[in-house]
Amino acid sequence: MKPVDFDYVKPTTLAAAVDLLATGAGSAKAVAGAQSLGPMLNLRLVQPDLLVDVTDIPELLEIRDERDRIVIGAGVTHARIEDANGGERTRAVLAEIASGIAYRAVRNRGTIGGSLAHADPAADWFVCTAALGAEFLLAGIVGRRTVPADAFVVGGFETMLAPDELIVEISVPRLSARARWAYYKVCRKKGEFAEASAAVLMDETRGVNRCVIGATSGRPLVIENRLPFSGSASDAAVADALSSTALATDPVAIQMHSVAVRRAIAAAMA
Ligand SMILES: Cc1cc2nc3c(=O)[nH]c(=O)nc-3n(C[C@H](O)[C@H](O)[C@H](O)COP(=O)(O)OP(=O)(O)OC[C@H]3O[C@@H](n4cnc5c(N)ncnc54)[C@H](O)[C@@H]3O)c2cc1C
Repeated sequence: MKPVDFDYVKPTTLAAAVDLLATGAGSAKAVAGAQSLGPMLNLRLVQPDLLVDVTDIPELLEIRDERDRIVIGAGVTHARIEDANGGERTRAVLAEIASGIAYRAVRNRGTIGGSLAHADPAADWFVCTAALGAEFLLAGIVGRRTVPADAFVVGGFETMLAPDELIVEISVPRLSARARWAYYKVCRKKGEFAEASAAVLMDETRGVNRCVIGATSGRPLVIENRLPFSGSASDAAVADALSSTALATDPVAIQMHSVAVRRAIAAAMA
């Protein structure tokens, strides 16, 4: 199948892109790497009148080092994040997450903002950014707002973005020197979408003990201050933490996600 006919524009400022989306009133859609939107257009799951290409907007393409955070433009590709390692701890963590997404051809075009906005429950960025305590800057016709990563996704393929809003940048707090972090996804081979996933962060300096579980059928599950971060978290302790979540009634999901959580904790403590 082929997409329905649509117009295509490539604005070079954020204001122009937002204006076009607002004027389109729901029939205009942003496109970045087209790695998720392309198939959806071909299958006619989305039928926009206008595609607003956001890949030429300089504000979306920056990676900035600030004193206590790293700020990544929404239009930065997974491949650029993978290559921007440079040895610093938080950058290395981000590079490792990026390198586990699909394969290089997809990473060369797919963007962090596109991944977050698409909100596939099995995807990697929104689980990891929620666990890292990131914030997203959004821009729409009424102005800008900052939202916490763990509130951004409201369900499977659903976010709090209004039709005229774009993700501008993703702001990730720097890990402290003593922070323990890991992301583990259950998949048959490296680079596949997760069947179950867990990201864990224990940062005593900042008082953080957080686990975020992805590849649920809806929004990621955030577990705060419940997990024992010890060399090997027991099955019972992990099951106890998961029993407080929406997965509790599905034994297969509990099993898969327990494995992801325990392996993430073991990797974080190694
Ligand atoms: C073969 C294959 C394997 C993959 N494997 C994985 C995987 O293992 N893990 C994983 O996480 N992902 C995976 N992906 C998805 C990949 O990460 C995509 O790059 C990503 O989901 C979408 O990014 P994009 O830039 O291509 O967005 P697009 O496809 O261009 O857009 C996706 C959605 O985001 C919206 N959008 C784009 N940019 C913005 C913005 N700045 N603000 C607001 N809305 C915006 C669009 O309107 C659209 O709704 C895979 C994709 C493919 C094709």
